[in-house]
Amino acid sequence: MTPDEFRAAGHALIDWIADYRATLEQRPVRTGVEPGDVLSRFPTVPPEDAGSFDELLTALEDRVVPGLTQIQHPMHYGWFPANAALASVLGDIASSGLGALGISWESAPALTEVEQVVCDWLRQLTGLSEEWSGTIHDTASTSCLTALLVARETAARSYDDQGMASLDRQPVVYCTSQAHSSVKKAALLAGFGEANVRLVDHDPSTFAMDPDDLAHRIDDDLAAGRHPVAVVATVGTTGTTAIDPVGAIVDVARRHDGIWIHVDAAMAGSAMILPECRHLWQGVEGADSLTWNAHKWLGTILDTSLFYTRRPDALIQVMSTNPSYLWSKADGQVVQYRDWGIPLGRRFRALKLWFHLHLDGADALRARLRRDLDNARWLARQVEAASDWEVVAPVPLQTICVVHHPDHNTVDGVESTNAHTLRWVERVNASGRAYLTPTMIAGRWIARVSIGVETQERHHVKRLWRLMCDAAQSAAAEGAVPDGHTSAFDGSER
Ligand SMILES: *Cc1c(COP(=O)(O)O)cnc(C)c1O
Repeated sequence: MTPDEFRAAGHALIDWIADYRATLEQRPVRTGVEPGDVLSRFPTVPPEDAGSFDELLTALEDRVVPGLTQIQHPMHYGWFPANAALASVLGDIASSGLGALGISWESAPALTEVEQVVCDWLRQLTGLSEEWSGTIHDTASTSCLTALLVARETAARSYDDQGMASLDRQPVVYCTSQAHSSVKKAALLAGFGEANVRLVDHDPSTFAMDPDDLAHRIDDDLAAGRHPVAVVATVGTTGTTAIDPVGAIVDVARRHDGIWIHVDAAMAGSAMILPECRHLWQGVEGADSLTWNAHKWLGTILDTSLFYTRRPDALIQVMSTNPSYLWSKADGQVVQYRDWGIPLGRRFRALKLWFHLHLDGADALRARLRRDLDNARWLARQVEAASDWEVVAPVPLQTICVVHHPDHNTVDGVESTNAHTLRWVERVNASGRAYLTPTMIAGRWIARVSIGVETQERHHVKRLWRLMCDAAQSAAAEGAVPDGHTSAFDGSER
């Protein structure tokens, strides 16, 4: 493809994306495809001859879009807001167009230094002190793995020479059962072993970590000759946006030498651009690393996971490599982001954040998040005021966890309330008019309403509340016929 051919196709693609976004609301929220449908619409062998760009646009419309749950749809209330602000999409396109290669400062000084700039802008916007330096990882999963690898290596000094074989004590990681699945995954990948992932008790009504229990478990592990190495505190858990008390956790962990404290604020970190929300991570200045996804609520398109640390030296000690082909005269004077994480080569991700902040401005981002918090409080009030509905967890941010209790005896007990919840949620989702993702909390199914899509206004949330009430009424009338969702559930969570 020549630059001129690219120009023509590129304009057509931008037009197509703009039309797609402008008409998104007319599409069903949940994808209607069955497993294998998309696959079956593609040739089984690769193309030998060149095709036209028009064919691709048609295929995007016919084969790809129906195979997507429309996350940018204003009636999407599932998992979490994964906004992809168009301003950041432009930055992503610019990044692709430049085709820069980030393997060292010298391979793309601008890539490194713009990343330093935007990470520092977001540090300021979230009220963090100058002690923090940031980088952009792909996801919070990678950020957590990086933190736990550094924690393990720093505590055990296994980088010295014998690796994990030289560990004389079992290293232990602490989090709660409410932590994201990626925390346990990171601990297993970092070699801690399932038996050394300590699930600290949480408050049964707030779902937040109990710092006294953390203190006891650390003491018990020390007494048993094990090595407490890291605590992962979650600010905004996946199930209920529960807030682990970071300040109290820091106080407990700092009674001992060498415990790395990582704060996983993947979802809630966006809220810290609002000064009135920063009390939620009070104490964060005592942590060693923290991560939050600008590609969630803030809306800088995936993959933009911000990773901050107060101890870049520890990161560099564990992660650095300097083969001869990467040597340059600038070594020692510049940041080498390859030493801050696992990959060598990196994309110019900072452009997405720069374009997003430049074109939208922080003020508009703050206003949008405040709108969402208002909408969440509005919905929580409606649910609380309805006698047959229950808000089952605190609502510190934009996620409301609800259960509907029909007022007659056909639905009685946890089992049948679970079936009822899954039934009415499925009704909402099957309608294509809105989308919710239920989750298991403390042995019962709850419906989560995760507010915060960029184009989601109060009238959308009102429409959702009506849909929820209608679906719950008809599901209750229909009686207890469990659907596939319940039979697929085997009682275990991963
Ligand atoms: C979304 C989320 C994650 C995982 O995010 P990825 O970036 O997809 O790896 C981890 N922790 C929390 C609290 C989250 O909300």
